[in-house]
Amino acid sequence: MTNFEFQTVPSFIIEFGGARRLGAILRERYPLRRLCLVTDAYLHNSGLLDAALASLREEGWAVCVIDDVVADPPEAVVLAAAVRARAAGAEIILGLGGGSSLDVAKLIAVLAASEQPLEDMYGVGKVTGPRLPLVQIPTTAGTGSEVTPISIVTTGETTKAGIVSPHLYADLAILDAELTVGLPPKFTAATGMDAMVHAIEAYTSRVRKNPMSDMFAVQAIKIMTGNLLPACQDGSNHRAREAMLLGAMLAGQAFANAPVAAVHALAYPLGGIFHVPHGASNVLVLPHVLRFNLPVAHALYAELADVAVPGCTGSTEARALALIRYLEGLAEATRIVTTLRQVGVKVTDLPRLAESAMLQTRLLANNPREVTESDALAIYQAAF
Ligand SMILES: [Zn+2]
Repeated sequence: MTNFEFQTVPSFIIEFGGARRLGAILRERYPLRRLCLVTDAYLHNSGLLDAALASLREEGWAVCVIDDVVADPPEAVVLAAAVRARAAGAEIILGLGGGSSLDVAKLIAVLAASEQPLEDMYGVGKVTGPRLPLVQIPTTAGTGSEVTPISIVTTGETTKAGIVSPHLYADLAILDAELTVGLPPKFTAATGMDAMVHAIEAYTSRVRKNPMSDMFAVQAIKIMTGNLLPACQDGSNHRAREAMLLGAMLAGQAFANAPVAAVHALAYPLGGIFHVPHGASNVLVLPHVLRFNLPVAHALYAELADVAVPGCTGSTEARALALIRYLEGLAEATRIVTTLRQVGVKVTDLPRLAESAMLQTRLLANNPREVTESDALAIYQAAF
């Protein structure tokens, strides 16, 4: 067996309604007082966090709420939030929200405790620490950010950069599916498909795929395939919601160790240039990247088809194709956008997208098949 290392968050709590007793959950674990909660204004104003906030105050936590996280958070938002956390004397950081809130919470936990400037953290393994205790609670079943050591920051007009470091692993992840019950079908679908992509790309990652990441990826796909559509069709289906949240976390653990590849690399420019949300941008290129990868990855896709597609039989090529068709059918059934045209991309934009995708070298290196710029262009053309 090839040598490998597997890392993840040390503790998890999976509890429907757990956020309602958040104060007590944290009180049992941390003898601290000043907590900084990182979220976005929409969630804060929606009332979704009220029960969690009330519970924190009941247990004597002094809470500073930073609610200015936005999707694709720019550097300035991260830096301003870190200044506020420091000014509030934060002793523990709680990320509560979508992937962007959790990503920002990771960085605040480091920036509030260490003198290292943010600009020195970009890349892999550059964060030196120390950091404050970090607890993460996702409100979408998708990014898996609660269990990944990755933060994505918008660094320019259309460019994003990643910070990847073991220092960014939370100390505790809490999965409370009650927080996801009100998520509209469109977002449930996009975030759920993103989680599926995490599991698929982890399972076929060229770099650090290993028996443990495989186990997490397969289990994630097994759980999510039967529950994504039910969660979209009836948001109040608690079983489906809880399954999706668990599946997304397992997929997060898979790709935290066996990183994602060309689907994400080609999706990023769609987010950067056309502001397509992360999950939806992955869906747009997913089947076309998988078809491109077929010559080298069909055996692995066939293994995933055996888990995902009911009654799947035949050669590895046939089963791999069945997986791709299954994913296309799933995307259609959830009524998510499936062509670049639908998100405002013009045919003349495709070369710029391909050029931009080639900058994602960190991700492309993980793809089972090498992607050239002309390959990327052909994939975008197929997705058009
Ligand atoms: Zn993703």
